[in-house]
Amino acid sequence: MNLETMDKTYVLNTYARNYTNFKSGENATLFDDKKQDYIDFTSGIGVVSVGHGNKQIANAICEQAKNILHISNLYLIEPQALLAKKIVELSKLDAGVFFANSGAEANEGAIKIARKYGEVDGEIKRYKIITLKHSFHGRTISTLKATGQESMHNYFGPFPDGFVYADDIDKIESLLDEHTVAVMIELVQGEGGVEPLDKERVQNLAKLLKQKDILLIVDEVQTGVYRTGEFLASNLYKIKPDIVTLAKGLGGGVPIGAVLTTKKDVLKTGDHGSTFGGNYLVTRASLEVLNILEKEDTRTTTNYFSQKLSTFLKYDFVEKEVGLGLMRGLRIKDATTLTKIINECFNHRVLVLKAGRNTLRFLPPLTITKNEIDKGFERVEKAFNTIS
Ligand SMILES: *Cc1c(COP(=O)(O)O)cnc(C)c1O
Repeated sequence: MNLETMDKTYVLNTYARNYTNFKSGENATLFDDKKQDYIDFTSGIGVVSVGHGNKQIANAICEQAKNILHISNLYLIEPQALLAKKIVELSKLDAGVFFANSGAEANEGAIKIARKYGEVDGEIKRYKIITLKHSFHGRTISTLKATGQESMHNYFGPFPDGFVYADDIDKIESLLDEHTVAVMIELVQGEGGVEPLDKERVQNLAKLLKQKDILLIVDEVQTGVYRTGEFLASNLYKIKPDIVTLAKGLGGGVPIGAVLTTKKDVLKTGDHGSTFGGNYLVTRASLEVLNILEKEDTRTTTNYFSQKLSTFLKYDFVEKEVGLGLMRGLRIKDATTLTKIINECFNHRVLVLKAGRNTLRFLPPLTITKNEIDKGFERVEKAFNTIS
């Protein structure tokens, strides 16, 4: 049985999967089983922030694996404490951290903190959470309901109550009522189309919510960990959210999620937990990721990447450029052309992503080299030239 048949027989068919067999990687370059190279402009959907085959990460994981991988959260976990301290310092928030295993789980934690914050003496006073249309917050039952895309609510009901969708950031204020406990937003909607929110509007929203004692939750699962230039996109927007969630780029490929909150006293012992969350393996790896990224000059990389990307505006099927930092996109005139582009890019051995209905998305490793950027965009250009 070949691998493709094996996969189709034994793995549930929840992904539209490409069957190239990647065997190794070096930074933003992947190699398949025929030793052909591919430039990776996706970093595994914003996960492999420090590149593939990173030796510093591999060594840290290896050393940790030889000592302890896991002992449970009933005992002190040294790298967990060190990582929490580092995340809090980098975030510039007076926060505490809870470790989960994914973005959805981090958002579950955020929702639980908000819901508990809305209870007074064990009574539910406020519980509604407002999210934005086109948002994406995860695939668990409640984060799916928090996701403001109706098409994602087709099955799986009944869903938990209390999620309300605003068409855009300006509509949020009119939806606030005495039951609203939080507003949850992405500063740049990753899955929604890579369109950054307007800075001033976000700052005004943050101010308004503070006045009303409504929590601001920023889902930084995709925007966090230097993706937009600063450690948090919230730092770039100069806001201080009450809750921030992280995942994707935080572990460089190990599954880790985190929820940071300035409301450090809301969750008490026993209110929340996770078997794997923050274990030795993932927190040791993540510490090393942050050690690397702290020293990385993403500004120069971003400038170089931007310069190359903007040359693609000359194609008449490209409407505009969107995004921030190394979370970028080209808005393509229609979804059919976008699908052709993504397929042609793959044929020319460069990996790119789709976002929303018609956005070509780029999420390269933050450590991508100039040479890899050049090579990748040469291939994208060849792919674009096959489209008419
Ligand atoms: C990917 C993503 C999630 C979900 O993360 P998982 O690790 O897949 O659960 C949530 N929010 C945002 C903004 C994301 O980009």
